[in-house]
Parts: sequence; C-alpha cells; structure tokens
Amino acid sequence: MFDRKVEPFYEQVIRRNPGETEFHQAVGEVLESLGPVLAKYPEFAEHKIIDRICEPERQIIFRVPWQDDSGEVWINRGFRVEFNSALGPYKGGLRFHPSVNLGIVKFLGFEQVFKNALTGMPIGGGKGGSDFDPKGRSDAEVMRFCQSFMTELYRHLGEYTDVPAGDIGVGAREIGYLFGQYKRITNRYESGVLTGKGLGWGGAQVRTEATGYGAAFFAEAMMEVRGESFDGRRVTVSGSGNVAVYGVEKVHQLGGTAVACSDSAGYVVDEQGIDLEVLKQVKLVERARISDYADRVPSARFVESGSIWDVPCDVAIPSATQNELDGDAATTLAGNGCRYVVEGANMPSTPDAVRIFREAGIAFAPGKAANAGGVATSALEMQQNASRDRWTFEHSEARLEEIMRAIHARCHETAEEYGAPGDLVLGANVAGFLEVAEAVHAHGLI
Ligand code: NAP
Repeated sequence: MFDRKVEPFYEQVIRRNPGETEFHQAVGEVLESLGPVLAKYPEFAEHKIIDRICEPERQIIFRVPWQDDSGEVWINRGFRVEFNSALGPYKGGLRFHPSVNLGIVKFLGFEQVFKNALTGMPIGGGKGGSDFDPKGRSDAEVMRFCQSFMTELYRHLGEYTDVPAGDIGVGAREIGYLFGQYKRITNRYESGVLTGKGLGWGGAQVRTEATGYGAAFFAEAMMEVRGESFDGRRVTVSGSGNVAVYGVEKVHQLGGTAVACSDSAGYVVDEQGIDLEVLKQVKLVERARISDYADRVPSARFVESGSIWDVPCDVAIPSATQNELDGDAATTLAGNGCRYVVEGANMPSTPDAVRIFREAGIAFAPGKAANAGGVATSALEMQQNASRDRWTFEHSEARLEEIMRAIHARCHETAEEYGAPGDLVLGANVAGFLEVAEAVHAHGLI
C-alpha cells in the first residue's frame, strides 16, 4: 500500500511508461518505502527529487545488425539506459537475452541506482543489453554480434561517463569481445571503461565470484543478527549461471549445503550437496544443460517441470531472473520451514511473495542490497585500473566481505531508525534513496 504522499508519483510513472510492467513494479517497491522519508524531508517533494529519480537521464536504443555463420543477416535491438549519475559515472551490466526490452532494462537500471548507492562507492546507475540470444551461437557469431553492438554503443561510454559490465548472457567471453572492439574504435587502452575483464588484461580478482559470494556473505550477516549461522543449513539456489554457481561455492565454504539448483529447463536435487566441480564443468565450461549434472552424479535427480521452490530448505537464494518466485512458491517455502530468502538475482520475488515472507516471519533480503557484491567489486576493479594496481584474491575477497557487511548494517540500522526493525526492504530503499536524493538535490536543477 502506498502512502498518500507518494501515490501521485507512482501514478505518473505508470502513465508515462505504458506497458513497462517490470519498471512499474521496481518503482512501486521503492516508493512503498518512501512515505516516512517525505514526511521527514518535505524539500524532496518541493524540488521534485522523486520525479527526477524516476526519469532516466538518457535512454539509448539502437539497431544491431550482424551475420551468422551461414551468412544470414540478423537484426537485434540494443539498449543502454543511463539512469542516474548523481554519485558517479553510470554503472551497470549488459544483459543478452531474448526477453530484453526497454521496460526490463529500465527496471534493472532503476534498481541499480539504489544498489550502487548502498555500496558506498562513487558510481551512478545504468543498465543495457539486447534481445540477442547467445544460446547455441558459435564463438564467432557471439564475437560478430558484440562487435556490432559496441560499434554503436562506444560513443556513449567512457571511464568517467558510463561503464558497463556483464549480466545474464554476458560473461568474460562477451566482455572480451566488447572491450576489444572499444579499444579498436577509440585507439585507447581505457581499462576502466568495462568491468568483468579477464585477469590478464585489467580484470580484478574475485569479480567473477563477487555477486554469489556477496549474497552468501549478506545471508551470513542476517543469520548472525539472529544468533544463527550457515552450519548445517539446507540451501536452495535457483539458476546455474554466474551468480548461482559462486553462491553455491560460498555457501559450502561457510558451512551450509546447497541441495538444488536449476536452469530454464528444470532443476536438480542432490541430497549429498551440489558437487561444485561437476556443476562448473557442465554450466561454465561446456555451457550445457543442468540435466547433464544429474546424468553424471548418481545422487542427483533432474526434475523437468515444477518449481525448485518445492524443495524443502532453510535458506533460499533465488539467483536466476526477475519474478521467478511467486506467491505460491513463497507459500510452499514458508510451509516447508524456510527461514531466510536472500535475493541473488534482481527482483526475483514478486510483490505477493514478499508479502507472504513478511507475514510468515521469514527474514528477507532484497536484491538491491544482497546482490550488490558484483557491482561493488566492479568499482574495486575501476579503482585498480585507475591506479594501475592489482590486488590479491585474499585482499579483494576481504574487501567484498567488508562491503557486504557494511551494506547489511546500513539497511538494518535504517530499518530500525524508521520504526521497522528487521525490514531490510525498507532499510535498503530508504538508505539508497537518501544517498542519491541528497546528491541530486546538491547538483541543482539539471
Ligand atoms: P547467467 O550467468 O546468464 O545465468 C542466468 C541463470 O538463470 C541461468 O542458469 C539461466 O538458465 C537462468 N535463467 C535466466 N533466465 C531464466 C528464465 N527466464 N527462467 C528460468 N531460468 C532463467 O546470469 P547471472 O549473471 O548469473 O545473473 C542472474 C541474475 O543475477 C540476474 O537477475 C542478474 O540481473 C542478477 N545479477 C547478476 C550480477 C552479476 O554480477 N552477474 C550482479 C547482480 C545481479 P538458462 O541457461 O537455461 O537460460
């Protein structure tokens, strides 16, 4: 339910952005928390700070023509939404997936603004991508697509302007092709223009692992507040991409047991605990299907249809995509005794699911706080690029853990300050918003 003061802002967003349902949802989730903020800081309404924060600074849409290996021509659509630069250059990933459209990119960009603010690093928020589907494409096809995409996008980028990274469908291979084309066009070795680079050419230790590791560190901080730990906990992690695989790795290192993970074709359950070596080989090396895991590991079974959230667990870490965990799934999780839901993905829980978690007393961490480890480590990569430095794995991981614990503390304390102890949704939204709003206000009417 919206506070009377924020309702007009939400109605305006719906009116100005017709059909962009995920964007409406992301804005709605933040505005729901802002009633007490507007009561405390009436100047934000007077100076139209919320209106400004809900309107991207710039939205770029472009054609991406490319040829497949047989010579057939394809036309995709590219996007970059430069949402807010009050705190630093636009920063946020690129997503290559057939479901990508402007509304999805705007929801991701909007969330990114607050997430980046919560890290305490000097980065603004943006997001981009394309409806290109890399699945089943050869390396040469992916390279040609990336080169065409960058040939248009490069003019909008720069280490002080806009710094993309990876997201769904964009990993180290794609970042390599994108960086190569940027360097070729601009004739500049501008390391800080993209993050998620290879370790041999400007990449940072722990960037690959950062989002999944960060979500697990965040979950551990939530448990500590309740006098608990990962020890002996059953954990379900949806997805089997970058976030999920390294989420599973850190859960195991912290003493928990991940018993299930998934891809878009189904999920696997392995009561012995997911075998990380096999999972990495299947998903990261061979880019194969999660069902192959069950073919190779005798203790595992593959479930083709149905929901991974049917698997009983103490901790759920949704790490695949938006709205993958709905009200029914939330009810099942609660019924099976789940105690913690920590979002590795962006907005994986529907508003219904979040309401059910709250009613069931499940501790819930929104993605903009719990999955901020990736972008925080990207900012550390930019820092190393700027100083021509290279940190060790141990130092980088220690910085990541410190940042995730600081984000948790900030959300926790803000929730208490605003009279909603334990409500990390409110804590994250209010703390992130205040940081951005103060900078937007300070920069005058631009
Ligand atoms: P990824 O490596 O491409 O992996 C995505 C995983 O999710 C794959 O297992 C994929 O299965 C599954 N998936 C994607 N779309 C799906 C759908 N519509 N239904 C069911 N499963 C689906 O991507 P990622 O980098 O791990 O990103 C996962 C989530 O984390 C996204 O929400 C992303 O925005 C968020 N995130 C990522 C980072 C980062 O640093 N990478 C940082 C912050 C947040 P298939 O292979 O079958 O498609």
